[in-house]
Amino acid sequence: MSPLTAKIAARQYALASQGLLRRRQALAVSPPAQPQACAGPRFVLEGKSFLNFSSNDYLGLSLEPALADALHLAAKRYGVGSGASPLVTGYSEAHQALEQHLCVLTGHEAALLFCSGFSANGALMKTLFDAQDTVLADKLVHASVIDGLRDSGATLKRFLHNSTEGAGRLLARHGAAALITESVFSMDGDIAPLAELSALCRQHGSWLIVDDAHGFGVLGEQGLGANALCQEADAAGVDVQVITFGKALGCQGAAVLGSRELIDFLVSNAREYIYSTALSPANAALALAASRFALDNPQLLAGLTENIGCFTRLCREAKVPLLASATAIQPVIIGDATKTMAVAQALRELGLWVGAIRPPTVPAGSARLRLTLSARHTRADIEFCVAALSQVLTQAGGPKS
Ligand code: PMP
Repeated sequence: MSPLTAKIAARQYALASQGLLRRRQALAVSPPAQPQACAGPRFVLEGKSFLNFSSNDYLGLSLEPALADALHLAAKRYGVGSGASPLVTGYSEAHQALEQHLCVLTGHEAALLFCSGFSANGALMKTLFDAQDTVLADKLVHASVIDGLRDSGATLKRFLHNSTEGAGRLLARHGAAALITESVFSMDGDIAPLAELSALCRQHGSWLIVDDAHGFGVLGEQGLGANALCQEADAAGVDVQVITFGKALGCQGAAVLGSRELIDFLVSNAREYIYSTALSPANAALALAASRFALDNPQLLAGLTENIGCFTRLCREAKVPLLASATAIQPVIIGDATKTMAVAQALRELGLWVGAIRPPTVPAGSARLRLTLSARHTRADIEFCVAALSQVLTQAGGPKS
């Protein structure tokens, strides 16, 4: 056995012995025949149909027929690929139109598109910071931010999750080039105190950088995300906002939004941008169409809000313990990773698919079911989901036992 093969085998064995091996399953997903008759998001796995409470497709746009048509038209018009990196010939009027649209919506001066939120966060952190910088980040920020910061060489200080006080203490002690948080936290579903954090950053001359992956499309009155939410609260605002198109917009790609100087700086220096094939123009046109579709159909966001309210109320009545989340992300903390997998499996046997999230994605001892709501869930779907949760958690002896 070669040394590398032996290393891989040893690492996989170690993961397997802790019950932490991950595997993929190829699902059969297809749009409903009649969108109006759409009976909740479902997929088929090994011949069995599952009700999906684990997708980030909060507005149900990924299967929207009008957007499939928009993608088809855009592919006909622009081709199916960008053909080059952006600084060669990969940047087109479709990309520019999306950037301009996003700037108008979010109130930022300029935008830069990436193929994924992971690369957008990585590029931003690595390009903006270096070993001279100290950066503060919430304890629960996404892996892409942490990886990017580690690669940047900056000194990273973490503050207690959502604690403005904790962040303030660190800022007073160390100063910082920037403070980084998420708008809606991907695993807890709670919302950062953005207005307070923006005031704090202004006071200390630090930038506020917000990973708005789970906020853009659903956060704020019109779903315009982190900066708009600050503006609604008359707060100072967000200096840099990273949004992704793979969550509420139901498609793919991401954007960094900020000042013209920042975006020009990234264009000239961000290696992920310079040396990678640009997002396809068809995908840029699709993200623009999806954003417009969401704005033109406010009943989707209203329906999601209603579904969140219905789900949390039914869980309260059924004594299913939730975290304090008012968003589409609704975790049920189980604690033990093996028990979490067993509970998720029992739910699957009832036809309900929820995410089972274990360390290292979440802190040790906080393995959980991560349920997510969609505008497309029906009242019957939500009632079924809560009844199944209640039954399985009772059989398992309660979430924390
Ligand atoms: N930030 C957060 C908070 C996320 O949850 C994710 C996706 N899991 C990303 C960034 C990365 O976005 P993308 O899926 O577009 O790579």
